[in-house]
Amino acid sequence: MNTAKKLFSLFFIAALFISCTAQEEQVTPSLDTVQLIEDLRFISSDETEGRQVGTEGNRIAREYLVERFEEEGAEPFQGSFTHEFVFTGREGEEMTGINVIGQISGRSDSVIVITAHYDHLGKRDSLIFNGADDDASGTAALIAYIDYFSQVQPNHTLVFAAFDAEEMGLQGARAFVQDSVFLEKVKMNINLDMIAQNDSNKIYAVGTYHYPELKPVLEEIETGEVELLFGHDDPSSELDDWTYASDHGPFHQQGVPFVYFGVSDHEHYHKHTDEFKTIPHEFYKGTVQLILNAILAFDSKS
Ligand SMILES: [Zn+2]
Repeated sequence: MNTAKKLFSLFFIAALFISCTAQEEQVTPSLDTVQLIEDLRFISSDETEGRQVGTEGNRIAREYLVERFEEEGAEPFQGSFTHEFVFTGREGEEMTGINVIGQISGRSDSVIVITAHYDHLGKRDSLIFNGADDDASGTAALIAYIDYFSQVQPNHTLVFAAFDAEEMGLQGARAFVQDSVFLEKVKMNINLDMIAQNDSNKIYAVGTYHYPELKPVLEEIETGEVELLFGHDDPSSELDDWTYASDHGPFHQQGVPFVYFGVSDHEHYHKHTDEFKTIPHEFYKGTVQLILNAILAFDSKS
């Protein structure tokens, strides 16, 4: 290669490098939906045996979550990815549950807590209750959001909590709220429980009856193919009241505003057929994107 050619190549390489880095800064990340489906598949696989609190399958799921939270760039929450708690079981016995919690630091220390529960019903006789919709769907979404926000820093500090022992009476969420010394910094809770299974592409955002100021934000977001409905929070309505139906309940009890995303009960609800192969992927990807749009909208407001 002669000098002129060498110089030209150097210039060309430098220009390429500069254009690449410039481009990198402009790119807004998108949800990794391939990985989302893979996380859903593993969390709801027979390997985790229905993830009942205190079981070996629950431990396998938890270790997977800690690994995935870390891999996607979450920091441990207050020094640890796990939060252990003790509660009283249905027969008065002492039980231990373990929440998995990570965070992405924002520009401010005002916090949005995004939650789902990773435990489910375990095994009944020889049947595994895989809980793919309930609530591997919400749990896998947390991982996708960690991946997303590790690439674009949020305004608020986002705390991602995969709670244990929800099926035993919202125990993980209760312990989290009780043990939190930082609750006054929490602006709101966004809870995801059963976001993947619906025949008519519909999901509810629950909580705006109690916190009407949140509704206009949700009315503005892009919902794609999914229809976003409101309700299940007004005690005078004909729909069941879901105000205390999942992990947002303990937040609401403390006066923390919440939005809970969930579908109507369906034929697989709390059945062994709530498994990976019955999940409609396109609907699930759609709700995970819709909820990301909601998180972005709430994060953009102070
Ligand atoms: Zn659930």
